[in-house]
Amino acid sequence: MKPKIQCFDLRSRNNAEIHLAGWLLMDPQTVVQKGWLLVEKGIIREIGRGRIPALLPVRDHGPGVLLPAFVNAHTHLELSALQGKISFSRGFRFWVKELLEKREVLGEEKLKAGAAQGIRELKNSGCIAVGEISTLGLTKEILADSGLSAVYFREYLGGISAMPQDMSLSPGKGNITASLAAHAPHTTSPELLKTLKEKTRNAGLPFSIHLAESEDEMEFLQKARGPWADFLTERGIDFSGWGLPVQNPLHHADRLGLADDKSIFVHLLHAGTEEFRFLKERGSHVCICPRSSQNLHGCLPDLPGMLRAGLSPCLGTDSAASAQSLHILDEAAFTARAFPEISPETVIAMSTRNGAAALGLANHFGSLQPGRAGAFTYIPIENCLSSNLSERIIHETSA
Ligand SMILES: [Zn+2]
Repeated sequence: MKPKIQCFDLRSRNNAEIHLAGWLLMDPQTVVQKGWLLVEKGIIREIGRGRIPALLPVRDHGPGVLLPAFVNAHTHLELSALQGKISFSRGFRFWVKELLEKREVLGEEKLKAGAAQGIRELKNSGCIAVGEISTLGLTKEILADSGLSAVYFREYLGGISAMPQDMSLSPGKGNITASLAAHAPHTTSPELLKTLKEKTRNAGLPFSIHLAESEDEMEFLQKARGPWADFLTERGIDFSGWGLPVQNPLHHADRLGLADDKSIFVHLLHAGTEEFRFLKERGSHVCICPRSSQNLHGCLPDLPGMLRAGLSPCLGTDSAASAQSLHILDEAAFTARAFPEISPETVIAMSTRNGAAALGLANHFGSLQPGRAGAFTYIPIENCLSSNLSERIIHETSA
């Protein structure tokens, strides 16, 4: 039986308490044997090893490892109700078609119930913060009531008319930051892309966009023809003013002002060294969802190339309609198996620190250190060595 992750979110607690365990993984490069955390008023105040400050209540979690709570940097909770209902085998285009049809049939209440179930799965799997892409606007309140921290990206696509006039970026309730996302460069007009990015830039908020994901997207942007061009034309959408063709999606994004240090580019299946170096120069964030990419496109992003370029990719599960679970350690385990040359420490960083940075939440989450939120997970694995902690966390756990 696999060890079960235990989650602790002490942010609303006032009392001071020591949390002790066999191992403390402050970040993947910094592990402390027999370490402890002092949490007070919901914040980590002190970290130590050995002698514990007197007169404070102590909770000894056991011989396993305390580590930062996880960050799922990209998901679509609105699609959770479609888990297992859409086939991958006919390719991405059919997956999208089936998804739109079945989403419509389910209706709002069932989609909301699915999102609530997805949030329970996230919490049970040790996740504290999530980057939620909301196409229908159904998940903001559910997330606000959940206790999770989130950047709630309201996603738009189509032309500028898709953007409501009264769009405001007022702070969300609870632990929610409300921001905006564009769906993708082949589904969203340049004018709308620019507007969405401008609004988030002016507000100092993260921005998200799927980029270089499908072959249809690549062909459309690089040739201004192909199945996607036909699809738009059939629907009476005129893309003659979109400035196509372009060298690649990233050039298109950059000339619209999308590439800066607040943007998260998601998937990047059709990108390589040149694009990664460029994103590194711009300080942009990248998020990959390897199981979803494998399921929908039969390929994986060039993660080693991203790392060689100096990027710090984060992990997302994408939706439960395209990945087997919303459990970020399932994504981590798949990633580690798919890229055996990547160290387990890097994969843990992708599941914690890098995601927190991409979502603008690095001051709260992603590592255990004084000043960060009192949110962590405990994994009851025994007989660890400092050299194999990350590897055992990835491969021996389940929600
Ligand atoms: Zn997505």
